[in-house]
Amino acid sequence: MKLSFRPYPLQLRHTFTVSICSRSSTPDVLVELEHDGVVGYGEASMPPYLGESIESVCTFLQQVDLTPFADPMQTEEILSYIDHLASGNCAAKAAVDIALHDLQGKLLGRPLYDLWELSADFQLPTTYTIGIDTAEVVKQKVREVEGRFRRLKIKVGVPGDHELVQAIRTVTDLPLTVDANQGWTDPKKALDEIEWLASQGCIMVEQPLPKQQLREHAWLTARSPLPIVADESAQRLADVQRIADCFSGINIKLMKCTGLHEARQMIQEAKRLGLKIMLGCMTETSCAVSAVAQLASQADFADLDGNLLISNDPFEGMQIVDGYIRLNSHPGIGIRKIKN
Ligand code: MG
Repeated sequence: MKLSFRPYPLQLRHTFTVSICSRSSTPDVLVELEHDGVVGYGEASMPPYLGESIESVCTFLQQVDLTPFADPMQTEEILSYIDHLASGNCAAKAAVDIALHDLQGKLLGRPLYDLWELSADFQLPTTYTIGIDTAEVVKQKVREVEGRFRRLKIKVGVPGDHELVQAIRTVTDLPLTVDANQGWTDPKKALDEIEWLASQGCIMVEQPLPKQQLREHAWLTARSPLPIVADESAQRLADVQRIADCFSGINIKLMKCTGLHEARQMIQEAKRLGLKIMLGCMTETSCAVSAVAQLASQADFADLDGNLLISNDPFEGMQIVDGYIRLNSHPGIGIRKIKN
């Protein structure tokens, strides 16, 4: 197997603001894994707050030597080798994992959901994120996507978030999910906010408090009228059990958890522990979004709009039809390259 990679900075359609930063592009590295003339695609997307960069991803990928693995179906062996090359580097590891799974599906001529005996026949809406902005711009953004989505997601935990919700409510009744990105610090105040948000047609809250505040999250989850989903508090498989008593669900993202192999294990563990499953993404191309969407039949919530937030997607894959995730029947992760 031959691994190649190149930096591919993603251009964002709108400047993106969360409670801790604002940006207009996202560093990204595209990966190809070739075996017997068949190519699997992978991707590492690096939003700045996760601590990876184009340099750190390329340094990691330069160390990867897959020549000892003659058989691309040796998933456990190959990905265990990748995971043990260095600590951290989750996005770089995810890039190899996605490319390997895409390659496997293509070699076997089947989509991954089919190889995993999962269905493509499900009704799961994805949210579409409306970034923080002035009331007028927010209203315009909502009008632009009206009719295309069944749920919207907004970022809260910043000054002016009530005005944002009220502005949205002047133009649409769509259910909202909210992501505080650890933006609240006092659990009692967070509960007041969540009760107000519930009265405004919000249906779920992501990561209300700082990630290490597990006891406070448990207090909040026990009292919240809305499900509370862990994002920053839960990155990898080992975190699922640790946070299980403190949240209603877990947001699984390939760039956090090193890829599809571990994401599947996290789903299994989360279901065993009675947690709801959310599938999320970074700003990323149709490559990583289509990869995680292979698991969509297992999810309660999906926030898979990363590819829609960029203007230079080199792939075409999973589609959103009438607000719902639609998988195609192409082998592997179900993408094709549309530009270099
Ligand atoms: Mg989040």
